[in-house]
Amino acid sequence: MSGRVFLVGAGPGDPGLITVAASEALARADVVVYDRLVNERLLDLAPEDAERIYVGKQPDRHTMKQEEINALLVARAKQGGSVVRLKGGDPFVFGRGGEEAQALAEADVRFEVVPGVTSAIAAAAYAGIPVTHRGLAASVAFVTGHEDPAKGEQDVDWEKLATAVDTLVLMMGVGQLDRIAERLIAAGRSADTAVAVVEWGTLPRQRTVTAKLSTIAAQVADAGLSSPALVVVGDVVGLRDTLNWFESRPLYGQRVLVTRTRQQASELSRALSEAGAEAIELPTIAIKERYDETQLTAAVSALKDGLYSWLIFTSTNAVDIFFDVLEKKCLDARSVRASVAAIGPATAQALKRHGITVDVSPERYTAEGLLDALDADMSGQRVLVPCAEGARAVLADELKERGADVDEVTVYVAEPPSEDESPELAEGLRRLRGGEIDVATFASSSSVTNLVGLLGDDIEPLKRCRIACIGPITAATAEELLGRAPDVVAEEHTIAGLVRALELFAGNEGG
Ligand code: SAH
Repeated sequence: MSGRVFLVGAGPGDPGLITVAASEALARADVVVYDRLVNERLLDLAPEDAERIYVGKQPDRHTMKQEEINALLVARAKQGGSVVRLKGGDPFVFGRGGEEAQALAEADVRFEVVPGVTSAIAAAAYAGIPVTHRGLAASVAFVTGHEDPAKGEQDVDWEKLATAVDTLVLMMGVGQLDRIAERLIAAGRSADTAVAVVEWGTLPRQRTVTAKLSTIAAQVADAGLSSPALVVVGDVVGLRDTLNWFESRPLYGQRVLVTRTRQQASELSRALSEAGAEAIELPTIAIKERYDETQLTAAVSALKDGLYSWLIFTSTNAVDIFFDVLEKKCLDARSVRASVAAIGPATAQALKRHGITVDVSPERYTAEGLLDALDADMSGQRVLVPCAEGARAVLADELKERGADVDEVTVYVAEPPSEDESPELAEGLRRLRGGEIDVATFASSSSVTNLVGLLGDDIEPLKRCRIACIGPITAATAEELLGRAPDVVAEEHTIAGLVRALELFAGNEGG
């Protein structure tokens, strides 16, 4: 049976503006066919093994002709499965989604349309411009600026549009802006009408230029704005003076490097994005499964035989990797025939996800609390501690003091990834070396040390960035390795404290 095609709107760029229906369609896709203006991060919503086909068009260079795209959609659908045709903004607003739907209908292929948030409204909104507003604009038109109005063969009736509609939203219009503006003025629109041009709207790199209809083309050329950009013409543009929420966030426009493991980076990245920064993740530490097969197999079988009194975890990594290994051996939580303890709440949470509730009360999740819960004299008791290679386990030392027989079994290592195994690392280093980073953040000494190591001979690109550290120990390492004190050290040594310190710094710098 033939498959189905979903014509899906990906939204204007900010990945948060994808719809629930679009993410669900992506999650079930066998094939994703996507365009240039689709945020590539959204492709992560598709299953890992889904095929991803880029058919993006450059402004002048077409990678694939529209007929070829139509044919591809039909062919893939006929192979069965679910094809997602992912398009920027809304698929039916200047997206040629209508033509694709016609081709599918003609070929008798079932299709569904998932509307998206169009840039025509969203890019304006992110520039602080409502496209309608009581008393200012009661009508709005979406107009293509793609045609050359000088040629006289266009479909757009500029003469009528010029004065009939309050707000004009031009898409694909930045290249012809001078001619379009002249044409509108000639047709009777006031030369003083306010105009805004929003480039890369809704993304951290959004830039906006405002001017009058008579001067906008020159201003935009001066600022070097180019496609994709939205042109908004009308009195509503004036509202931006008070409604410009997006570009006025504290860290707006700053490109901030996040140097933590991929797993840990998300919290900092999210906080930075909320403050308006572009977070660029450069993982300086990777957690990799590593163990001695014989040693671990022996430990696991002793655990199954009930020979250990305690199984103790000192990190979430150890929990996740230990249970991955069990699973690979076709075992599960039932093999754990011992009391289980965790050093902290996150570790206990991780255990819960693997079906284990810890035996030590949650109010006392500290090394001391944990030790208190164990016998003062542990002679004859065997304890298993899955841990990181080279990790210094204070807990294990104390248990040995009490006479326990402690097996510390390595299950993972934490070390800098290589550029080959981490595309993110390669991309982060490229941007750092290319001078595309404003601030580098460090939440641990090891991330400073590792990044300096990854940069090799040339640490100049890092020295040119502003340096922000989570606390004094990290700051001391940075100062030692970079030869100067960091620009920002968080007063409160948490992720939130680090972001707060960056905001304060940006505020002082700005004014
Ligand atoms: N279907 C899309 C529009 C495709 S036409 C939608 O609904 O948004 C491409 C034009 O859309 C670009 O030339 C530009 O004018 C506009 N556009 C798309 N994404 C944009 C963005 N992030 N910021 C500003 N304009 C954008």
